[in-house]
Amino acid sequence: MEPLALYIHWPFCAAKCPYCDFNSHVRDRVDHAAFAQALRAELAREAARAGRRPLASIFFGGGTPSLMLPETAATLIEDATRLFDPLPDLEITLEANPTSVELGKLRAFRAAGVNRVSLGVQALEPAALAFLGRKHDTAEAIRALEFARETFPRVSFDLIYARPGQAEAAWRAELRRALALAADHLSLYQLTIEPGTQFATLHARGAFRLPEGEDAARLYLATAEEAARFGLRPYEVSNYAQPGAESRHNLAYWRYGDYLGIGAGAHQRLTMPDGTLLAARRHRAPEEWLARVQRDGHAVTEEEALVPRDRVREALIMGLRLSEGVDPARIASRGGLPFDQAVDPAMLEALVEEGYLAWRDGRLAATEAGLLRLDSLLPVLLR
Ligand code: SF4
Repeated sequence: MEPLALYIHWPFCAAKCPYCDFNSHVRDRVDHAAFAQALRAELAREAARAGRRPLASIFFGGGTPSLMLPETAATLIEDATRLFDPLPDLEITLEANPTSVELGKLRAFRAAGVNRVSLGVQALEPAALAFLGRKHDTAEAIRALEFARETFPRVSFDLIYARPGQAEAAWRAELRRALALAADHLSLYQLTIEPGTQFATLHARGAFRLPEGEDAARLYLATAEEAARFGLRPYEVSNYAQPGAESRHNLAYWRYGDYLGIGAGAHQRLTMPDGTLLAARRHRAPEEWLARVQRDGHAVTEEEALVPRDRVREALIMGLRLSEGVDPARIASRGGLPFDQAVDPAMLEALVEEGYLAWRDGRLAATEAGLLRLDSLLPVLLR
């Protein structure tokens, strides 16, 4: 039986960041009790369908889940650990922003059972924080990291790089400063322009330019070099960890495991007892999600059984992001299709010869050059 990863979405934020296309919304007032009750209802429904299973991780994401009441997190953790069989090293992550409001609640989240915190630091340069529309300053970010390290066994934080005009030397210096703050895990994302965001409008108007091509690639390679100096290795395109500190929850996505996703807009992949792999997604708008859960007990808007070709495609899209790559036997068993029928063998050979993919200990992985071009490799690799 596949162990489960459980994702819980809190869809509210204090303000909308100009680069963000996540399902996050700003509201003057949130009915915490109603949202907590609805999350519990969706969890109970999915648990009844999934059956008793080992539970490997819980991840409170968003939005800004550190804005939820710690009691809500505590109740959901209690429910999840009663409805499933938690593994002894159950990982429970909470995303938080480093503002003083949220900092004041972190101890209560720790008491609720959260054992890993992921802080949305995004930058340490004041001008960059202002550009990114963040509500915290550099001093708050550093204080939050120090407090998180004292409070939680595991700490991760996010930074955004490849910002307009960012020089390689400046990024290296900022990153070294961040790495010295000694988190065991870092997510380092290149700034991208997502449709529908405030940045998309500004970018289209020519308000700023992002580093592209060779410049962006140089920043990516500099990132891995600096992380390695501090003992953090890249284990996924944007994620770096000390050995053993990888996010188990996110590894479940990348290794194409089963995961439940509850809350507005959450996705899920769940293997049913007959072997069918069901893909589901929920209504994105928080109020409509709430109304549907109150009416029907869930807010699933789409659910389909994935055919083998879709399963293989998803497993490869996720797995080739990992430095460990993919195991063809796992792809075949999760996909329900032999590996050599799922990919184009001639194209696979060519991509290996050209140095974009490599076989390592029986696993297929993207090389450094391949990781920079993953989006274009996959369509040609798949049959
Ligand atoms: S805090 Fe996070 S989820 Fe909320 S708007 Fe900003 S980037 Fe998006």
